[in-house]
Amino acid sequence: MNLPREGDYIDIHTHESTSRIDGVLSVDSIMAHEEKSPGYIPGFLHTIGIHPWYLNESNHDLLVSKVLKTADNPSVIAVGEAGFDKIRGPSAELQRQTFEEQVYIAEEHRKPVVIHCVRSWDELFKAHKKLRPEMPWLVHGFRGKTELAQQILSKGMYLSFWFEFVMRPESSGLIRSLPAERIFLETDGSGTDIMDIYNKVSADLGVTVDELKTIIYRNFNELFTLKR
Ligand SMILES: [Zn+2]
Repeated sequence: MNLPREGDYIDIHTHESTSRIDGVLSVDSIMAHEEKSPGYIPGFLHTIGIHPWYLNESNHDLLVSKVLKTADNPSVIAVGEAGFDKIRGPSAELQRQTFEEQVYIAEEHRKPVVIHCVRSWDELFKAHKKLRPEMPWLVHGFRGKTELAQQILSKGMYLSFWFEFVMRPESSGLIRSLPAERIFLETDGSGTDIMDIYNKVSADLGVTVDELKTIIYRNFNELFTLKR
């Protein structure tokens, strides 16, 4: 299993596992409907989950069983992305049921959950309250307001920012206002350079890129390795 080394850039959420970049540890988020399977690939770790966009009544059982079978793979550090989407995806009920099933799998394997959440914060918070997970959740692709970010963090969750949002000058205030020990950075497979994102965020925080690497490295260990 590839663990990041201190000094690596960590791309906590991407969708590719082919082009390795020296000095970058990427977490490839495998979606259960894809042909891909996790395994040892230098420079990469994986998550496995059911993305709500690609879930429907007829593939539900198959996708859940794939997550179930794959979650204990040593290259899989979390379950997800999983969650809720009001814009695209199946019924709210199927999304909720499938999300809960994935949370149970994550708890059983002592792995965190990576969350996809679009305009469904009530659903997410309700599920968190109902399930009371022991493993922490990481909301990826965040691009909301400071109050929402605070609300997410107050539930013990972590945040990773949407790659476009994080590069905007307007996001600097939000980034500065959050506890640095709860944040992650990601490209989401967009082709954006993770190094550019680190540059922007280190300037926001008033730290060097090396200092930011250390912060995110510690966050990684806190979230993904110490609790297992
Ligand atoms: Zn994604």
